[in-house]
Amino acid sequence: MTDNPVRPVDNGTLSQAGRCGAKTRSGAPCKSAPVTGRRRCRMHGGADGSGAPSGSRNGNYKHGRYTAEVAATRRWLREATHMLRKLNESAG
Ligand SMILES: [Zn+2]
Repeated sequence: MTDNPVRPVDNGTLSQAGRCGAKTRSGAPCKSAPVTGRRRCRMHGGADGSGAPSGSRNGNYKHGRYTAEVAATRRWLREATHMLRKLNESAG
């Protein structure tokens, strides 16, 4: 039985699934399996309802719609501030 083409899975199942990897209190990375669709186990932020909301509910959400508009507004504000400061200096 030494030439069995099907290698028995002895220790591969845990390492192949990917580990949570969060730093535990002992300093070693957590060896628990991550929650499906998450990168951390249920003890380290992978639980249902934990973490930031996805999509537009997330503060870091980028849709790109207002990019040009916001840039133009900022430019206008800067110019207006500059102008007002100049007016103030010449008036005073
Ligand atoms: Zn963990």
